Amino acid sequence: MTTLADCRALDAQDPLRALRDQFTVPEGVLYLDGNSLGVMPKAAPARIAEVVTKEWGEGLIRSWNTASWFDLPQRLGDKVARVIGAAPGEVVCTDSTSVNLYKVLFAALSQQKDSGRKLVVSERSNFPTDLYIAESLCRERGFTLKLIDAAELQGPGSVLTDEVAVLMLTHVNYRTGAMHDMKAITAAAHAVGALTVWDLAHSAGAVPVALNDSNADYAIGCGYKYLNGGPGAPAFAWVNTRHAGEFEQPLSGWWGHAAPFEFTPHYRPAPGVGRYLCGTQPIIALAGLECGLDTVLAAEAFNGTNGAMAALRTKSLALTDLFIQLVEERCAGQGLSLVTPREHAQRGSQVCLSRENPDDPQGGSGAYAIVQALIARGVIGDYRAGDSQMPDILRFGFTPLYIGFEDVWNSVEHLVQVLESGEWKREEFNRKNAVT
Ligand SMILES: *Cc1c(COP(=O)(O)O)cnc(C)c1O
Repeated sequence: MTTLADCRALDAQDPLRALRDQFTVPEGVLYLDGNSLGVMPKAAPARIAEVVTKEWGEGLIRSWNTASWFDLPQRLGDKVARVIGAAPGEVVCTDSTSVNLYKVLFAALSQQKDSGRKLVVSERSNFPTDLYIAESLCRERGFTLKLIDAAELQGPGSVLTDEVAVLMLTHVNYRTGAMHDMKAITAAAHAVGALTVWDLAHSAGAVPVALNDSNADYAIGCGYKYLNGGPGAPAFAWVNTRHAGEFEQPLSGWWGHAAPFEFTPHYRPAPGVGRYLCGTQPIIALAGLECGLDTVLAAEAFNGTNGAMAALRTKSLALTDLFIQLVEERCAGQGLSLVTPREHAQRGSQVCLSRENPDDPQGGSGAYAIVQALIARGVIGDYRAGDSQMPDILRFGFTPLYIGFEDVWNSVEHLVQVLESGEWKREEFNRKNAVT
């Protein structure tokens, strides 16, 4: 059996321990929700204040040039590139994940419009906004969205056929924490002539990603989860250089124009990924995102040329392995089961549990109330509702930048207490909030 002393010893040997000092983690909080909104970097308040008071307040419009506001989407894009296996000049930070998905999926569909292919394939359990965006684009552009289970991508009866125009997947599933083999799936999609669109919302800053090595086509991802960019931080878009200058995105605003300050009446797209910008950028929000990106890139110091993610991945897997082991040792008989794959190659940086043994006063799984009871104790994870095909989920994200091994022990200790005492059955934990 693993003990608290063992966990403390792991922290003492952890080479990445000092990275935690980059963050302001509130006293008494065990934060296991960095997969939903990352913790605030310590540098963010001062940097954002500087942008507001100096660059905006004093520099005013001059700051587009003097404070390098103008190329911020590309400069930050180059930082994102370092954690997603892309090259400088291939990524822009801009807009939301949903909007960027609209842009890249539109471009991919334009690329396939004369191919006779009519299907966009995605997973039933993909994050809903991805499916909603795909639904409306398919309707507009005359394609059909086909929802599948991940298992249907493999084997002789695979859904990957010459009818598929685009395979749109989220690399790490937001509900289950299951991770796809990007390189193998991209190769299988290309073998039937389909293009791939990858959502990296739960991958960027969480697991090593190798977009160019995987020969992927399009990718987008989120700035406020593992990249710690702040609530609603700008997202990012990457397009393989073989497509970037070839196809247009639909939101042809002036920031994606080849020469916006020529003010010509006709749109001429910028070369490369620059055309994926639309309008004037949110400079203050981008400043927050840069602080977040720098917290992740700080891990590069620990792993030389292999980049930040190789170092972070080792710790992330050790943390999630430990959490799984402790839950299984200490919560046995409480009806919890592991939803996240045990195999490292198939696991992101979160662990999801379901509860199959309902003695919830409201007749459900109890998952929501258990998460609420944990939050009341300062252990912040989250809950994702299930339906007839998917169980309710208790979700725990492990960001190795600021979570330690003793934190894992303490969070499981709270879970044990919440379950054994029946504390979660209290009425106050069974009332639903607007944001879960
Ligand atoms: C978090 C997340 C998003 C978020 O999209 P927004 O446009 O930022 O609201 C999109 N897709 C996936 C897979 C996510 O996990």
